[in-house]
Amino acid sequence: MTYLLLTGGRVVNSTGSTNADVLVHAGRIEAIGNLTDLPIVDVERVDCTGRLLLPGGVDVHTHLDSPMMGTTTSDDFASGTRAAACGGTTTLVDFAMQGAGQTLLQSLETHRQKAKGKAVIDYSFHMCVTDLYEGATDEFPEIVSSGVTSFKVFMAYRGTLMLHDGALFDVLRTSSAAGGQVCVHAENGDVIDRLAADLVAAGRTGPGSHEISRPPSTEVEAVRRAIQIARMADSPLYFVHLSTEGAVEAVAEARANDWAIAGETCTHYLTLDRSLYDAPGFDAAKVVLTPPLRTEEHRDALWRGLRAGTLGVVSSDHCPFCLEEKRRLGEHDFRAIPNGGPGVEHRFIVMYAEGVRKGRISLEKFVDLTATAPARQFGLSPAKGAIVQGADADIVVLDPEGSTTISAETQNQRMDYTPYEGWKLPGLIENVYARGELVSESGKYVGAEGRGRFLERSAL
Ligand SMILES: [Zn+2]
Repeated sequence: MTYLLLTGGRVVNSTGSTNADVLVHAGRIEAIGNLTDLPIVDVERVDCTGRLLLPGGVDVHTHLDSPMMGTTTSDDFASGTRAAACGGTTTLVDFAMQGAGQTLLQSLETHRQKAKGKAVIDYSFHMCVTDLYEGATDEFPEIVSSGVTSFKVFMAYRGTLMLHDGALFDVLRTSSAAGGQVCVHAENGDVIDRLAADLVAAGRTGPGSHEISRPPSTEVEAVRRAIQIARMADSPLYFVHLSTEGAVEAVAEARANDWAIAGETCTHYLTLDRSLYDAPGFDAAKVVLTPPLRTEEHRDALWRGLRAGTLGVVSSDHCPFCLEEKRRLGEHDFRAIPNGGPGVEHRFIVMYAEGVRKGRISLEKFVDLTATAPARQFGLSPAKGAIVQGADADIVVLDPEGSTTISAETQNQRMDYTPYEGWKLPGLIENVYARGELVSESGKYVGAEGRGRFLERSAL
């Protein structure tokens, strides 16, 4: 079939919703409107009556096939992008880690090879800078002009990932000059390392100690420091995975001053809370991720931050390690448990159910947070993030009357658990189209292998 016509659905964009048919041709959206009488032949018609047509999700925070804390994340680009597609996400921006002894350009090439021919949805990368060796910043212009227009730095994990403030300053000013932006993991790593050492010395080596070693103030302090350093560098800054009320306040203050500070939070901070660290045995390790889950007060503040526009993006921070792997590495010392959890498959439906259906955000705001705003923030608009004429035909068909039950048994993520085990949610993702191709039907991948393309993003 040359044409695809989705009829009778409700098209939802961040700017508004309308009942309309959507005509797709050659991977793009050709027309939107009342098109049922259109005199075209060779068309496949799909009845979407009663369904929502939503822009395919854009998840700008994933770690696929990524070396971390002595192991590698459990999803590679094949399994991770399949899971994303089945969950309604059709674009990823994944973190390219800097390899030991590799230059940034070499590291980027290593990560490109991991994705090439394996990813089933379109993707791009952020370049992680974990060792600012002599000459590293000289490579920034070439990295940006190759379409990788964002960098990532860590203010925690001294000795492995962390940059000191001077290096952070250098990355910010060089990136800015090259037309890139910097994503910051904001936690005060040195304080955390000492708190963690105290806990271990006191014999508190279990996974529940992870949370105690990273109190909210360790995030808030780092956020405030990074904002000031970005000011000194005259650079924009994007905070990944904010988790606390104090961080939201700090970003709001900066934005009120018209400083170019943006913030993201993640599905799990909005929907789970710290009580999971009280789980018996080793189960708390399932949510050993950074920053840790917080109390309900912080969770409510994050939702308020989204509604107010202080936080503009919801990502998954999909950083999966099987529970058995977490146990193997960290059963006797929580500090050695690889930090991260799964989420790329369920971000879309959990945000729809917990956000829209619980009345916390509008449908249009949901689209903005999960697709439109991340695409705009990272130079993927107008091809991604909206159902508009000329855009890529990345479309999720969601039945609001259906329901979804999440389980490790049935998920596509290569994981032995999900923190949402047994959750029964309103809404069912039926068809997912990526560049006009049907890639998933009711949670089953039906697309071709390795069909994803690398997206060259535009500079700021
Ligand atoms: Zn992450």
